[in-house]
Amino acid sequence: MTHHGRRSHIQAVPPHRDDLDAIDMLVHEHPGLRADIAAACELQPVALTELEVLPTSVLASPRTPIMTPMPSLYCYAMLALLPGCATANQFTPGPVIDMHLHALPVSPENARAITEISGLSCATTDEELLTETLAALRRNGVVLALVSGDNALAWQDHAPELLWVGAQPGRETVASIRRLHQEGTYKAIAEFSPQYAGLAPGDPSLEPFFALAEELDLPVGYHMGLGPPGAAYTVAPEYRMSLSNPLLFEEVLLRHPNLRLFVMHAGWPMLDEMLGLLHAHPQVYVDIGVIDWALPEKEFHHYLSRLVGAGFGDRVLFGSDQMDSPAAIGVAIRRIRDADYLSAEQERAILYDNAARFLRLSDEEIALHHESLSR
Ligand SMILES: [Zn+2]
Repeated sequence: MTHHGRRSHIQAVPPHRDDLDAIDMLVHEHPGLRADIAAACELQPVALTELEVLPTSVLASPRTPIMTPMPSLYCYAMLALLPGCATANQFTPGPVIDMHLHALPVSPENARAITEISGLSCATTDEELLTETLAALRRNGVVLALVSGDNALAWQDHAPELLWVGAQPGRETVASIRRLHQEGTYKAIAEFSPQYAGLAPGDPSLEPFFALAEELDLPVGYHMGLGPPGAAYTVAPEYRMSLSNPLLFEEVLLRHPNLRLFVMHAGWPMLDEMLGLLHAHPQVYVDIGVIDWALPEKEFHHYLSRLVGAGFGDRVLFGSDQMDSPAAIGVAIRRIRDADYLSAEQERAILYDNAARFLRLSDEEIALHHESLSR
């Protein structure tokens, strides 16, 4: 499958002997060549999920296969200098911040639903999920991810430089969030998802958490919008789609004008209401978790292009909402990189710059993130 991205840094090729020889020759002739390389293969769509920017180390062994769900087919690094890949050497993948990641025990039920919706394969053990997720984050240039879920703290032990942990009200009380934030454990309240319990943002029971977040200056990632299809009939009897309306946040925001809120899933499918909230409350951001890989691609781009087209491209945060399928991370990032309605600047903003600003990263942290990719 030939891929026609806007900046055609991808070469879609079946592994061919001549190509491999050419790569061997180029690596031999240019041992110091440091190229930003993208690889692609003539694979089935599910395998395309693994098409990601290759680490420099691949250059050391140009025949290193990228593991794909089809072990008989391999992707090979295509050097920027290969004929027909003229723009490849202009492609510099910048760092990515994933504002929406989960560290949950694997769930065969959830995995089945994910595969059904997206065609993506899922991890089958907790260990595989951890290993593959960290690998996918690093492969895709993710330098920071905000993670929540039962295993979040354990995951952070494996990658403290990469993962920030978000507190989840319900698992934690106001008192425990305060304490663990002060101890440096929690950097945000996320994912906060009262919609699954049938609660609107303005429900009085949630008020202490918003007050705490405002007091501690903690970012809040709030679930709004889609859940698993038919959730109210199965996994979440109290879930109501009507609680997805982002305008339900208005009174909370007016009570807490310094709240650092990002609406998760950008409130899909409540686009007009989402635009209304962003217009009326300029401090609010959104993330595009799950809609960037689970929705049909056309619908995702329609939604994102409306957010950006309405002038809110500087308040859209990248998020994967990866749960059981590590490959979702690559798919989601690829969709942003391939969005032909985004300028290079807007793409960078969504993948990194907006989150760096929203999280108030220091100049030093930002410089380190950029440096870490060139190592
Ligand atoms: Zn969510």
